[in-house]
Amino acid sequence: MEKLTLLYSRAEILERVSEIAKKINRDYRGKRLLIVGILRGTFIFLADLIRQLQVEAEVDFIGISTYELGSQSSQQITLTKDLQVPVSGKDVLIVEDILDTGVTVDFVLKFLQQRQPASLKVCVLIDKKERRVIDVPVEYVGFDLAQGFVVGYGIDFAERYRWLSEIYRLDFA
Ligand code: 5GP
Ligand code: MG
Repeated sequence: MEKLTLLYSRAEILERVSEIAKKINRDYRGKRLLIVGILRGTFIFLADLIRQLQVEAEVDFIGISTYELGSQSSQQITLTKDLQVPVSGKDVLIVEDILDTGVTVDFVLKFLQQRQPASLKVCVLIDKKERRVIDVPVEYVGFDLAQGFVVGYGIDFAERYRWLSEIYRLDFA
């Protein structure tokens, strides 16, 4: 049986999103930003975030698919959707829902770095630091989470629960 427990309320989330936006507004003042959202878990976070920005921002999305390799415990990661706008010379901010092992963000960082952006930084809503396997630099963090599997606010479990306005911990009893 699945059990949902409220973890972050709508108000708490919006407070953290505002804090991140303030920092981005300071750091990128007078610059033009290219925001790259990793599909699909970021779409609600990104929508709230960009509406608090006071810097001119382009928005595009990248699609990633991860799957376990049968026998080994290693992960295979592939691109399912490329960006539609050029990256070269731009100040790029990658936006991700959850930073876990770091495999996904590491892949996207390396992928975008090849296109020679002027700068490249990472923003995540939830950082599960303790679970990191690959060390990735992250500039903007909403919440630090030590443990648990979360859903809601755009984040799914098997395509469910994205529509929830708050973030919940999902337990399998
Ligand atoms: P990483 O590549 O850092 O291990 O994993 C990042 C991806 O794993 C995230 O984009 C997210 O899709 C998924 N993920 C990690 N933790 C959670 C979680 O608690 N809940 C959900 N729904 N997805 C998670
Ligand atoms: Mg994801």
